[in-house]
Amino acid sequence: MRDSLGLHAFNPGPMTGDGNWTWLIPGRVPTLIDAGVGEPRHLDAIESALGGAALAQVLVTHSHSDHASGAAALSARMPHARLLKMPWPDRDVRWSVRWEPIVDGARLDAGDTSVVAVHTPGHAPDHLCFWHEETRSVFCGDLAQKGTTVFIPAGASGDVAAYLASLERILALNPSRLCPAHGPIIDDPASLLRHYIAHRQEREAQILDALHQGDTRAEAVVARLYRGLADVLIPRARDTVTAHLEKLEREGRVHRRDDAWHIMGP
Ligand SMILES: [Zn+2]
Repeated sequence: MRDSLGLHAFNPGPMTGDGNWTWLIPGRVPTLIDAGVGEPRHLDAIESALGGAALAQVLVTHSHSDHASGAAALSARMPHARLLKMPWPDRDVRWSVRWEPIVDGARLDAGDTSVVAVHTPGHAPDHLCFWHEETRSVFCGDLAQKGTTVFIPAGASGDVAAYLASLERILALNPSRLCPAHGPIIDDPASLLRHYIAHRQEREAQILDALHQGDTRAEAVVARLYRGLADVLIPRARDTVTAHLEKLEREGRVHRRDDAWHIMGP
């Protein structure tokens, strides 16, 4: 069986770092994981990697623009390719293509075998990972990125509790590698995923401690926990802290009045 191939989307930028990886699974059902942004060099690279075969389908991990916005350009160049993802109707309409829905647990023919869709919300509500059992690989989208943590945007349906459950779900598969949308292949998935879980627990304890110290606003918590953070990164940090506070609110451990957060209880 031929291995999957990372194809760069040619979209470096402030939000995407070096840019995105998309993954081509060659074989009987040539399948691309993620659509990129429609950069012509990406489309050329896909065609050249296909070596004359027709792309059968594009499986999109989630509706953020660096993963989904290339669907229209791909569809124009390769009209027979189906476009599939888990629906996020508010976002999916932006990409003006016809998406076919994927449900959690769906087994989809891909390459010479198949992949299983694993719903992994947290970073985005529609986020899917694709489990390729033969190679024990997970095409993990934005679930994980080597050398950094993943942004959980409270202001865009991010959910820390859902993210933690998603990490556990992928850990339980015991994959031998993760093929992410950003950064290098992760060949020690369990240690990174466990590190992420511990990091979120530590962050949560720090946020509770900041409220105990008298902070009430997400901005104040950010100033305390992220000392020296560059100004441009402060909105993301505030959104992350808010996502943690919303988790604690649902658990009945803090409550919000206007934009002020308080510890529950005496
Ligand atoms: Zn994303």
